[in-house]
Amino acid sequence: MASPDLTIDLSAIVTNWKALDRMTGASVETAAVVKADGYGLGADRVVTSLRRAGARSFFVAIAEEGPAIRRAAGPDAKIFVFGGHMDGDAPILAEHGLIPLLNSGQQVKRHLASLPDHPLGLQIDTGMSRLGMSSREFASLRHMIDPRGTQLVISHLACSDNKSDKRNQAQLAAFRKLTAGFPAPRSLSATGGILLGPEYHFDMCRPGIGLYGGAPFLNATPVVSLDAPVIQTRELSVGDYVGYGADWTAKRVSRIATIAAGYADGLHRVMGSGSSFSCWVGDIRCPVVGRISMDLITIDITDIDGTPERVQVLNEHQTIDDLAAVAGTIGYEILTTLGQRFRRRYIGG
Ligand SMILES: *Cc1c(COP(=O)(O)O)cnc(C)c1O
Repeated sequence: MASPDLTIDLSAIVTNWKALDRMTGASVETAAVVKADGYGLGADRVVTSLRRAGARSFFVAIAEEGPAIRRAAGPDAKIFVFGGHMDGDAPILAEHGLIPLLNSGQQVKRHLASLPDHPLGLQIDTGMSRLGMSSREFASLRHMIDPRGTQLVISHLACSDNKSDKRNQAQLAAFRKLTAGFPAPRSLSATGGILLGPEYHFDMCRPGIGLYGGAPFLNATPVVSLDAPVIQTRELSVGDYVGYGADWTAKRVSRIATIAAGYADGLHRVMGSGSSFSCWVGDIRCPVVGRISMDLITIDITDIDGTPERVQVLNEHQTIDDLAAVAGTIGYEILTTLGQRFRRRYIGG
């Protein structure tokens, strides 16, 4: 088989959800963010596992992601849509019972006009300037909305991955002030906000990345591992070169293995020769040599006895956050760009 195997440990996702849930009070609901196909890991499997573990609410980015979540979560789960109610969304929201988090006066009017009896939530901006109605907009609209019919009011923190950033407290204060006297359930925190402490938890927290084993939840149980088959190996003499641009030249007699994964699989080209990216055979590190190609990576296996059939790309030695550091990005982007053509194996489900 020439397909890399992405192994997804569903019981680790459940463990992470429970660990995050325990960090919040008994009256605080812990939901699960499953946008972008569960951060690339397969939303149907993730939702089924978390639902069984007790999760009752799920979040997606756009309405089109909702039907698959509804199928996996069953009729009683709540499914919220961060993007709110866009033009043309009414049928899909109605048919699948999705709750839009209305982001603007325009969305509120659209929702009340097209689906007056359908549940809604609100998203207000407390400083991030990305999604959500401004404080002024909320003040002018709140008389139109029945707080008792409002399922949830949310805002989102811009800097929650940095505990000492003063903007966290400023957003917290703004959220409190804006929602005062509006008796609907409130939610401010994603993974980072849960770690900031109880005053950030309100009625519901909505972690994403922490479920999937990524920073800023540093005590997370790892969720993904990845191994890839070796297609070919060869012996190099001193002076032989490897890959496009002849970026790497053997300084010793070397053995090189060619692996079936590349930048088309989210193993970014910046992770080539000269970076700390490696593959692993058990505990032995095999550094990348030469440039990463679209479908292929070359590694130095000189220090390995014999010829491995497969090598590990993500394991306990090299996590999604390690890859992110090499690639100058974040674990979120590594997860969501990991090969769609990889075979996915689910364990612990
Ligand atoms: C993606 C997202 C989350 C989840 O964030 P994590 O950092 O992955 O926990 C929560 N709320 C909103 C508004 C989001 O866009």
